[in-house]
Amino acid sequence: MNEDVQQDLLASLGNTTQETEFFTLIPPGYVKGRTKYVVVLGTVMSGLGKGIFSSSLAKILKDKGLRVAPIKMEGYLNIDSGTLNPYRHGEVFVLDDGMETDMDLGTYERMLDENLSRGNFTTSGQIFTRILERERHGQYLGRDVQMIPHVTGEVKRTLRQLAVDSKADIVFIEVGGTVGDYENGYFIEAIRELAYEEGEEAVGVVALTYIMEPQSLGEQKSKAAQLGLRQVMQAGLQPHIIACRCPSPVSDKVREKISMFSNVPLRRVFSMHDVASIYLVPEMLREAGMDREVLTLLNLHDRVNQRSEDRARRTWQSFIDKLQQPKEKNITIAIAGKYTSLRDAYASIDKALEHCSVHTRCNIHLRWLDTTEIDVHNVVEHLRGCHGIIVPGGFGVRGAEGKIQCVRYARENHVPYLGICLGFQMAVVEFARHVCGLADANTTEFAPNCKDPVIDVLPEQKKIEGLGGNMRLGGKDVVLKPDTLIRRLYGDHPTVRLRFRHRYEVEPRYIPVLEQHGLIFSGHAPNQPIMQMFELSSSVHPYFVGTQAHPCLTSRPLSPDPLFLGLVEAAIQRAYPQQVFSDMTPDPSDITRDKTKGSIHRPLVAN
Ligand code: GLN
Repeated sequence: MNEDVQQDLLASLGNTTQETEFFTLIPPGYVKGRTKYVVVLGTVMSGLGKGIFSSSLAKILKDKGLRVAPIKMEGYLNIDSGTLNPYRHGEVFVLDDGMETDMDLGTYERMLDENLSRGNFTTSGQIFTRILERERHGQYLGRDVQMIPHVTGEVKRTLRQLAVDSKADIVFIEVGGTVGDYENGYFIEAIRELAYEEGEEAVGVVALTYIMEPQSLGEQKSKAAQLGLRQVMQAGLQPHIIACRCPSPVSDKVREKISMFSNVPLRRVFSMHDVASIYLVPEMLREAGMDREVLTLLNLHDRVNQRSEDRARRTWQSFIDKLQQPKEKNITIAIAGKYTSLRDAYASIDKALEHCSVHTRCNIHLRWLDTTEIDVHNVVEHLRGCHGIIVPGGFGVRGAEGKIQCVRYARENHVPYLGICLGFQMAVVEFARHVCGLADANTTEFAPNCKDPVIDVLPEQKKIEGLGGNMRLGGKDVVLKPDTLIRRLYGDHPTVRLRFRHRYEVEPRYIPVLEQHGLIFSGHAPNQPIMQMFELSSSVHPYFVGTQAHPCLTSRPLSPDPLFLGLVEAAIQRAYPQQVFSDMTPDPSDITRDKTKGSIHRPLVAN
């Protein structure tokens, strides 16, 4: 916190402690009324797709030329999602600034097509840490520090800080969990206070609810939704808009009931039934008129840029058209990892392949393989019929030898391969063992005393070990070697920015021997000997590529990541060796790099 801010906070603390019950730390530069707020609350149960809904609503408002800034507020006490088990909580999403977040931030980045940062994510752990630090510095001037007003005050300050930093027209607040949960109650109270302080037309409350359709009854039932909405009102918040999740379109009768019991006009009670793809949700909300209702509620009609909206809708529509076109091609990609029984653990890989499926007009069937079950005897059986193989990122030795078997199968049988982070490291180990003849090659993560530690913690990283900061995290530039497959895939750009989350890397003293045997390091860190990408020459393998980064994290619907696209295109070639498809392999000049976003943008290929 800089000094000005501290002075400002202290001043307002001083006021509040002595004279008044109002307690609000207003960040410097905050202009009341400039930024509006939309809060999305879940009721009845979790798992309704709150993130997809919120990000779709944010997208259709962004399309209108409004600046939107989402924030996900998580009730748990962890400071970030870095230590959460993907098996319990889904994948850890890494932002460009290195923040490790909930996977919903990935949904926002993909839907809004923009990079987010730590200001877009907060947890109870962060809120309480700031409170307790302030308390230890004596900044509460003798007052007892309480949930209200101090903790709720910190939540409001966080939201207003985001408004200042993002200069947003609308801050989109998604509260994790459902209303009535013990752990998010104070977020909801903070939002009630925010709505009171900001006044009329400043805060729109959207409640997501669930309409049941019990099979035995064959009709839609609204009681659970009514009870959930009542809890929102008991918390002191009157919903303005209600979105009803349901497997099928919600009947007028049920909408009327919801409207009547929740004091929300019928035109603001929306059916948000299941659709074939999450990418259809924005248009569904727009057609139902939810964007208009939000603009009216927040008095924002005059900030709309119609031309921007028309342009954004046309671009999105061409993506949707491709998505819905029947696809004749079919390929199977194996994902050989550890958490394969839970798709959410590899959400962004799943999404990156989905983006490629649309752009190559090919159905991609995923075969999830648990590598703890794979060994030298059964690997052929597991991978038979696959046209491409991905070994994803991971931590821990479990299933590692199975991954190495998969890499070997891919390399020896010319099956297109993409290794991501740990999948990159396992491929280097495999290559060292079976091509360079270093039989005991390994990573020191799994075998600290192996004879040939081809993957190790770099000396610079070792120095900071123990201080908690020894993971290379966040967006980093990768310098691409000229005349390589990977550089061509990235449109011949000399550098590309990708996201990282790892501790180990190729031990530099093994680089010469690996290169002598044909491994081409096509990408490395700008100022350190950190190898970030490899490939094999096309004369020995159609597509054998690895990266220390997680390119799936920056793949976007309108611009799939080129390494994933390369894998899928090579897999299609393997599945249909005789055929040439007119819609494949777009001209590299179609690929542009938007430097402001730091990601690769390949425009839609015209049909
Ligand atoms: N465990 C490996 C490392 O720490 C790989 C990490 C990953 O795949 N994200 O370097």
